[in-house]
Amino acid sequence: APAIDFRGVTKSFRLPDGKTLTALTDTSLSVGKGEFVALLGPSGCGKSTLLRLVAGLEAPSSGAVAVEGRAPAELVKAHRLGIAFQEHALLPWLTVRQNIELPFRIAGRPVVRERVQGLINLVGLAGFEAARPKQLSGGMRQRVAIARSLVLEPEILLLDEPFGALDAVTRRQMNVELQRIWSESRISTLLVTHAVEEALFLADRVIVLSGRPGKVVRTLEVPFDRPRH
Ligand code: ADP
Ligand code: ADP
Repeated sequence: APAIDFRGVTKSFRLPDGKTLTALTDTSLSVGKGEFVALLGPSGCGKSTLLRLVAGLEAPSSGAVAVEGRAPAELVKAHRLGIAFQEHALLPWLTVRQNIELPFRIAGRPVVRERVQGLINLVGLAGFEAARPKQLSGGMRQRVAIARSLVLEPEILLLDEPFGALDAVTRRQMNVELQRIWSESRISTLLVTHAVEEALFLADRVIVLSGRPGKVVRTLEVPFDRPRH
């Protein structure tokens, strides 16, 4: 089974005024194991909704969503999805180390200290273990979020505009960092972005969504050779 599989998925929301808003229509796509796919499209075309369907945070109105051949909820329950969404803020009262350890505590598992330290080193935050989020720059906070999303060694990584709040220079640096981190794990990844250069820089394949409701309008294989290949 592919890492992520969408078959004819439509997602509609019932609005408070009783009307129905269709966010995503008749969407089929898949992400292979070990593949890095970027979802690119303008604001409002359903990218976040698509990611939330993969994360089991929404259920499709019609069609089928499978992750590793199973229902998303099963993978969530097994803590095999790593998620770094822009809105998933770090807990401000916890230190860097405690934030990265959090998924172990939520899963009720003993903290694997070497794993936590290894990720702290990998994302370049050695020396900042005891800092609190508000003492860090935006880029550093995003690195904490990415370390946290990887700490349980998930099978699937979901990134929703992980660098959307950063300035262009920091964002480019973080893209280089993410590519380096990703090449260590080669985890199946779905990244949502509205930045073309980010999608082309990071992904093996770019799926372009457009329209309201959104649907797949194009799929691009990224032809460039990268250091990781
Ligand atoms: P994107 O991530 O591409 O900006 P979204 O998936 O956030 O797009 O939103 C697509 C459309 O679905 C938008 O019109 C948005 O307002 C709507 N939408 C998303 N989530 C909900 C929700 N929970 N309830 C109602 N409408 C929603
Ligand atoms: P993005 O920044 O990725 O476009 P949004 O800011 O549109 O995301 O949405 C953030 C959150 O709000 C998501 O959980 C989305 O499902 C929800 N949301 C978006 N639009 C609506 C809406 N019209 N009604 C209710 N929830 C919404």
